[in-house]
Amino acid sequence: MKVRVIGSSGTFPTPTNPGSGYLIESGGTRVWCDAGPGTFTSMPVDGDLVDAVFISHRHPDHCTDLFTAYHAWTFRPEPRSQVPLYASNDVLDHLAAFTSKRRQDAFGDTFELHPVEGGDTAQIGDLGVSFVEMSHSVPALGTRWESNGRTLFFTGDTGPGDWSETLGGVDVLLSEAALPEPRAANESIKHLTPSEAGQIARNAGVGSLVLTHIPPYIDAEASVAAAESVFDRPVRLAAPGAELKV
Ligand SMILES: [Zn+2]
Repeated sequence: MKVRVIGSSGTFPTPTNPGSGYLIESGGTRVWCDAGPGTFTSMPVDGDLVDAVFISHRHPDHCTDLFTAYHAWTFRPEPRSQVPLYASNDVLDHLAAFTSKRRQDAFGDTFELHPVEGGDTAQIGDLGVSFVEMSHSVPALGTRWESNGRTLFFTGDTGPGDWSETLGGVDVLLSEAALPEPRAANESIKHLTPSEAGQIARNAGVGSLVLTHIPPYIDAEASVAAAESVFDRPVRLAAPGAELKV
């Protein structure tokens, strides 16, 4: 299994780094995981080679390029149809509301809707995926991806929590680290500082940690150092264009 980072910029994209978006691949299967702004146009493969789409939650920095894909796949001479779309009911309802249409009418034949919630599992080609409820300001799903005995966990957006059981046996933890150090004592914002991500990685004993969703105004190298101060296994940045072997 491998992850290709399409974009990892936290909160908003920059000219060199799209919003949240990854290609998770194993064998011949490719899943586009989060459709942040700029990710469709920066896709490292032809968009038609994407087998399924997953959206972690409804914040615009994670989902607005679904509309781009919808237009690209729908309004052309030979449209794509029935692209599997995995997301919570909350995401599907809000995306449909933006188009002022009922849910299935909003996406026509282009997407095959798969509403999912925490505890659900799915098999998408060569990839097995489990959905986990995270702790964010809106309903948000983490995802545990498994293939050929290797395991990746992508947090999506989340605040702190005890994920040690959920993260058991994870080889690579792709974790958000949207906040700068240190967390203010009265700051209950539901994102992670890099040291909190490191703590979660350490408590669960994951193989390595990849930090993502760092906003452009935060020093990413300092974020890596903060995570390394609590987690003594490899820590990397999800740089746009990077290929992460799981
Ligand atoms: Zn969010």
